[in-house]
Amino acid sequence: MKIVILAGGKGTRLGLTDRPKPMVPVAGKPLLQRQVEAARDHGFADFLFLTGHMAHVIEDHFGDGTAMGVAITHFREPEPLGTAGALRAARHLLNEPFVVLYGDTLIDVDLAHMADLHRRSGAVGTIFAHPNDHPYDSDVLDVDEGGRVLRLMAKPHPDGVLLPNLVSAALYVLSPEAIDHVLADRASDWAHDVFPAMLRAGKRLHAYRSLEYVKDMGTPDRLARGEADIASGRVARLSLRHPKPAIFLDRDGVLNIERNGIHKAADLALLPGVADAVRRINLAGIPAICVTNQPDVAKGMVTFEGLRAVHAALDTQLAAGKAYLDDLFLCPHHPEAGWPGEVSELKIECECRKPRPGMLVEAAARHRLDLSASWLVGDRHADIAAAHAAGARAILVETGHGGNDAARYPDVKPDHVAPDLASAVGYLMEVMA
Ligand SMILES: [Mg+2]
Ligand SMILES: [Zn+2]
Repeated sequence: MKIVILAGGKGTRLGLTDRPKPMVPVAGKPLLQRQVEAARDHGFADFLFLTGHMAHVIEDHFGDGTAMGVAITHFREPEPLGTAGALRAARHLLNEPFVVLYGDTLIDVDLAHMADLHRRSGAVGTIFAHPNDHPYDSDVLDVDEGGRVLRLMAKPHPDGVLLPNLVSAALYVLSPEAIDHVLADRASDWAHDVFPAMLRAGKRLHAYRSLEYVKDMGTPDRLARGEADIASGRVARLSLRHPKPAIFLDRDGVLNIERNGIHKAADLALLPGVADAVRRINLAGIPAICVTNQPDVAKGMVTFEGLRAVHAALDTQLAAGKAYLDDLFLCPHHPEAGWPGEVSELKIECECRKPRPGMLVEAAARHRLDLSASWLVGDRHADIAAAHAAGARAILVETGHGGNDAARYPDVKPDHVAPDLASAVGYLMEVMA
């Protein structure tokens, strides 16, 4: 599989005059060279550089790639045609699925894993996606439970909109068919022009939701942060190479006010101090992962679509405090029959409903988490039991149900008890440091 790198950027905001943007040094090494090394380390050896501004600097530095043990083809764009137009011009060089990387991003991503998921999903395009602390000025994806992109919501966003915090990053795996959706004779951009057109045409796009590091280095501030993240080990730590601890968060009664079922966005309200507490987890570089039983889906009281709106409200309220959840897993099942309008195929004994550990186990597999070093915060003993069954430790908080199901779990004892999430996170910042 080819790696296509969009390397035509000027780097005006970085103040570059003697080299194009992808050649900006990041911790002493050109960013483009870091990209090639990162891809090579995941088994990729075939590169296509789409160049424009000061193409000769890139050509002189890399040559045909032999010195780095890879093969590089340089393709000079006849004229600047945007991120998508550039690929249209090089269409004849792309006969099978390929990775698209923007030349201004610092990445540490298992591209082989992402490419494999692309092939298996049957999607025409797979978009790297992650939450951030400023979704309001980012392009975000609205996806279904299977990761299929339903809508691409481009910035700027209207005031008051409920915004799922899943930001599309400048990293894709595309099948050649995607290029057929790029209009001729004009500049166009994947996120703003081509992906929306593909969705309108009913084409399948998938989000690759990941904790791995992808950040653009297009301004001096971002560049400084990228260099700091390399120095602190944060870039490598989030990769799939390394098992990492996470903090699992129950939803109702821990993040938001328990209302015995939340079926619409307007009913969701964060508990006091929650956004600050989640932001502390984010700043520590620890994945914050929500695991929530939502049996009302099986009972026919709320749909998956309804829950997406509730979770967009959750994301939006957290984002107002610059906080985010790295991922959210939900169990829609319920084992017993007897509700009018219930969804029979969800009325099952599943492996994901807490006190079973299925959601934690799935999260660990997806993000390569070290469950033995992870913690869960919950308001019921069923939460604590799920954490223990997964090999993690758990804190019981006194908000929400406040552990009122103790009689059903006589053998389950939390590893710590805290009045609320803020206090629980304060404790975790000490024991996980
Ligand atoms: Mg709860
Ligand atoms: Zn389940």
